[in-house]
Amino acid sequence: MKRAIFPGSFDPITLGHYDIIKRGIKLFDEVVVAIGINSDKNYMFSIEERKQFIEESFKDDPKVKVVTYHGLTVDFCKEIEAPFILRGLRNPADFEFEKAIAHTNRKLAEIETVFLLTAARTSYISSSIVRDVIRNNGDYKVLVPESVNIKKAL
Ligand code: ADP
Repeated sequence: MKRAIFPGSFDPITLGHYDIIKRGIKLFDEVVVAIGINSDKNYMFSIEERKQFIEESFKDDPKVKVVTYHGLTVDFCKEIEAPFILRGLRNPADFEFEKAIAHTNRKLAEIETVFLLTAARTSYISSSIVRDVIRNNGDYKVLVPESVNIKKAL
């Protein structure tokens, strides 16, 4: 089975993440959306909320699994036997950042990182922009899957 992990914070999942996951399941037998737990970061949504938003979005896609993990992504890949990491690229800044991480991961383990260019219609969306819109009472719904609901979460 060809298994890839799609790691990130997903605080919250956006239409950009959604697009990459949907396209990822055409390439892999299983895409494990892996929410990294970093105790130094302050999140807007709890780990349970972030997980629930993603699970709800993909409830009809049995090829998508949602998990949480601590520590290095490559160690988690080995643990769940996922030889591929899926990442989305929005712009040159993402590319430079991701290049260093992918090289490091290759040095640490035999893991291939597979990059998908973001869809043009969602390439400007980031979780941090969504959080800003939410904080300022804007219409965040146009940037995220329907499952993301701040009334349910907060
Ligand atoms: P991180 O905390 O690692 O930045 P994110 O949750 O923001 O994680 O993103 C996880 C992955 O989703 C990364 O590969 C990132 O490039 C990708 N991504 C984020 N926003 C978008 C978008 N609008 N379109 C496509 N991919 C995206």
